[in-house]
Amino acid sequence: MSLMKIHSYELGHIGTNCYIILPDGSDGAIVVDAPLEAAGFVPEFLKKCARRLDAILLTHPHWDHIWDAAPLAAATGAKIYAAADAVDFIENPQMQKARLSAPGDFPPAKVDVPVRDGELLDIDGVKITCLSVPGHCPGSVAYLMSDSEGERVFVGDLLFNGSVGRTDFYGGSFEELERSIRGKIYALDDSVEVMPGHGPSTTVGAERRSNPYVCDAR
Ligand SMILES: [Zn+2]
Repeated sequence: MSLMKIHSYELGHIGTNCYIILPDGSDGAIVVDAPLEAAGFVPEFLKKCARRLDAILLTHPHWDHIWDAAPLAAATGAKIYAAADAVDFIENPQMQKARLSAPGDFPPAKVDVPVRDGELLDIDGVKITCLSVPGHCPGSVAYLMSDSEGERVFVGDLLFNGSVGRTDFYGGSFEELERSIRGKIYALDDSVEVMPGHGPSTTVGAERRSNPYVCDAR
């Protein structure tokens, strides 16, 4: 993979990052997470750059990341990818209301490709490694991608710039979250860019050294 362009937009109820990835040498595109507004915004954006959406990668089954997955898939024909153990939560929005206080109803999405830890995907020429990273919630997956400029990992709400994901939601566990961060993310090279589900990007090295919740000094 020579190079890919990554655009990031905060969409939906609580400013959830929606990443649009445009791989070089392809007329396809990949989206990471589909907050409310993504079903309108993403197709408009891709029309302007004459790209087709091939994949919607969901990092975890929380309503603010998946709200528009179904209409976005319907509008574009893209396939939905998510952790195998996230499928129930994604396909049953009523569970989002009952267990996660979702602020309303949204159409259930169908997961086309359930992924497992260590699985390798090849989408539009981009090699993607799926890493299971529970802790913020069950069914959390990080997507590691590389191009000629380096590696990036899309971590959802596992790890943020200077913070970590909440563990007080249904199925959350700080112990698991710390294990996922240390075992899967801090195991990567310091130079790997970390693209979180909320807020600005960071790097593995910066968080390893100075993250106040999970760092090497502790
Ligand atoms: Zn979340």
